[in-house]
Amino acid sequence: MRISYTDIYRFSIPMVPFTIATGTMNYAQNVFIRVYTDAGIYGVGECSAFPMIVGETQDTCLLMAREFAALWKGTNPLDMEARLQQLHSFTAGNTTIKSAFDVALYDIAAKNAGQPLYQYLGGTKRVVETDITIGIGEPDVMAKQALDFVASGATILKVKLGKDAQTDIARVKGIREAVGPDVKIRIDANQGWSFDDAVMALQGMGQYDIEFCEQPMRTWFDDSLPELLQLSPIKIMADESVYNHHDARKQIKSHSCDYINIKFSKSGGINEAIKIQDTAASAGIACMMGGMLESRIALSAKLHFVYASPNIRFYDLDTCMLGHLEDPCVGGVKFDGYFLDIVDTPGIGADADEVFLEKCEKWVI
Ligand code: MG
Repeated sequence: MRISYTDIYRFSIPMVPFTIATGTMNYAQNVFIRVYTDAGIYGVGECSAFPMIVGETQDTCLLMAREFAALWKGTNPLDMEARLQQLHSFTAGNTTIKSAFDVALYDIAAKNAGQPLYQYLGGTKRVVETDITIGIGEPDVMAKQALDFVASGATILKVKLGKDAQTDIARVKGIREAVGPDVKIRIDANQGWSFDDAVMALQGMGQYDIEFCEQPMRTWFDDSLPELLQLSPIKIMADESVYNHHDARKQIKSHSCDYINIKFSKSGGINEAIKIQDTAASAGIACMMGGMLESRIALSAKLHFVYASPNIRFYDLDTCMLGHLEDPCVGGVKFDGYFLDIVDTPGIGADADEVFLEKCEKWVI
């Protein structure tokens, strides 16, 4: 099998503005690709650039996608390790756009095997319930939103924090008092705190039954994490500190995290995500599946990977619920409230809507 050409789309999804500690997004800066082969099969991939965290924009992704597509033209997509190494040899980093190409390879491989991707990866389905994210705002506004989410059936809230530590404590207090004791609350500081802020915030929130806190400090304070873990009554999940399985090993060996958040936009896709999950599993460290602002296309790939990864115990799979104003996906993941499921069709079982694609800038390489 040979790759004949690749379609690349500027896959912008209009959004209600979404704010975290590092900035505000007005549309999801996504890229969609189709990698065509001479065997009548094509693979799809989608990624979501999140510049404030990973450092790639939609435009850098689109530029790199054209380079990657040219490199792959005429090569065998089933030789997955060689294809991915080709991208790594061409450029370091750029993990977000690499993830779209990685997912397209897995889609082709699973379609070629006639299996849903999770079966191709050796997995089985299980119940997956996502959390729902509350962006940073005034404490009373956040508490109101928490109540609205709970009224709509949510049982797990993820609360974005990382501004002023005292106000962050008030935000969590307000939400816990509003929703009562039965709703799970996890928090994400997105690197917003200093060490002293983190100690104060985490100790101040200890009484509010928080499941874990993602990424309390900037990654350049990773050397302070072992001390923070000793002082924190709340478990710590590494997010921005872990892109690949080498990062995972370093965090685990240095006792710098209790859990790890896996995202394809950091790992460069499924291939490396499997290595992170295996590294964490062998150390007894549970993982979360997370994401940026992907549509249901990339979300479908994530769900397949989750089914094949029993050590993933937390699900932050609400990316397309966070104010996306259009759904550009056909097939793929279905939501029953906050529970996810997918129909058994070969590959990732999701594709882009042709009507949506007609509006997108396109390159054929
Ligand atoms: Mg996070």
